[in-house]
Amino acid sequence: MVFCPKCGTENKDDSKFCVKCGAPLPQSKKVEAQQVSGKSPIIAAILNFIWIGLGYLYLGIKEVRGIPAFGYVIIGLVLVIIGFFISPIRIIGFIISVILAIDAYQKAKGEKGFL
Ligand SMILES: [Zn+2]
Repeated sequence: MVFCPKCGTENKDDSKFCVKCGAPLPQSKKVEAQQVSGKSPIIAAILNFIWIGLGYLYLGIKEVRGIPAFGYVIIGLVLVIIGFFISPIRIIGFIISVILAIDAYQKAKGEKGFL
């Protein structure tokens, strides 16, 4: 249930406007939290570290910064292929893995993360 901030009437969770006074209702952040509830931050971090994007897929996060989760998986593949030939790319790939692992960890805990 979500309470109208104007008149206090109870409204359904998915309502956008109050049934009584028509005031716009605050969109509960429940949806976002539910998305990642029950998922282990550690596993999310490890998955994103092993292969970027996997942690997001595990958490059910569809996109981060406008890039779909599977996009990160593909970026990971590209980095691995290029990194096979150009070693500095491996270092960049490693740094990205660490950043995304921390981000997945924070997101799994229901925090915003830094991406
Ligand atoms: Zn109302």
